[in-house]
Amino acid sequence: MENSVSEAKDIITSYHGPNLRIMEVCGTHTHEIFRLGIRKLLPESIRLISGPGCPVCVTPVGYIDEAILLALKHHAVICTFGDLIRVPGSEMSLAGARQQGAEIKMVYSPLDSEEYAKEHPEKNVVFLAVGFETTTPAACLAVKKARKDGLQNYSLLVANKTMPNAYLALKDSADAFLYPGHVNAIAGTAVCEELVKKGISGVVTGFTAGELLTALAVILKLSASGKPFFRNCYPRVVRPDGNPAAQAVMREVMEPCDTEWRGLGIIRGSGLRLREPYHSFDARLRYALPKITGHSSLLCRCGEVLQGKCRPNDCKVFGTGCTPQHPIGACMVSNEGACSAYYQYGGTE
Ligand code: SF4
Repeated sequence: MENSVSEAKDIITSYHGPNLRIMEVCGTHTHEIFRLGIRKLLPESIRLISGPGCPVCVTPVGYIDEAILLALKHHAVICTFGDLIRVPGSEMSLAGARQQGAEIKMVYSPLDSEEYAKEHPEKNVVFLAVGFETTTPAACLAVKKARKDGLQNYSLLVANKTMPNAYLALKDSADAFLYPGHVNAIAGTAVCEELVKKGISGVVTGFTAGELLTALAVILKLSASGKPFFRNCYPRVVRPDGNPAAQAVMREVMEPCDTEWRGLGIIRGSGLRLREPYHSFDARLRYALPKITGHSSLLCRCGEVLQGKCRPNDCKVFGTGCTPQHPIGACMVSNEGACSAYYQYGGTE
């Protein structure tokens, strides 16, 4: 840490520099910053923007439609993390498909889904693989285990993403990024050092009040130079080389591809897909899924929220037509979503 917590607080509250837009990329950062009351400490010149680090929020509508097609038409058992079940697709959510007879099973890890497939050879099981560098290694391990176990009834609908090219796509949305500590714990810090060369500033941080305040104070101090910068303010967890074992399993099982992000469109090289030796576990190939372009509610501004172009409470249906109980868009569904955080903590800024 470059400053003690009280020093960090002083730096933040006494800031009189130019306006700064700081994007907290990780949904957990968004929620912790609200929960800890850190937004209330910030002077008006500092604007925090909630970015696209919630995996459920950035998963496009067409992906939900693909999962529903697999469940209703191909009668696959869909295994997924809980949040995805309530995300609206073009016509319905997976919860809606369940009401029409689809078998949707909530799991806590990809390996649970592999185990379920092994125990139920009579069923075709599809795991919905979404998420970033943090969750991808576990999905890769599940595929490797399925191959070792000789499973013929198991596949993944892959929408895993990687962050570096998303930062480039969002370059103009923020003056500095609060990088997600969990992602950097896997990916390391070389990527952030590279981004400095491309004019992108940021600080990787953890999730405690002290870590978040310190990271914000470091951004304010380093921004004064006018030069791009990077600092690792989470060294107790993030090592420069990250987690080489997790990186190796990802490289072995998956390869980069272009992919769609809700609100950001296609970002080149920011997606992952299974490599050729694992193609038999690719649900899109196994079920010959057609290309599906989903459409979200015309009322929903998730796309703009995810780019920092508007705040959740700028959306006309925020807190009225759209609530965590009855979400219209993905950002209100997930606990990590910006709209959910604003709703839960009464955010206005
Ligand atoms: Fe979409 Fe609801 Fe957020 Fe509006 S409040 S942007 S409808 S998720």
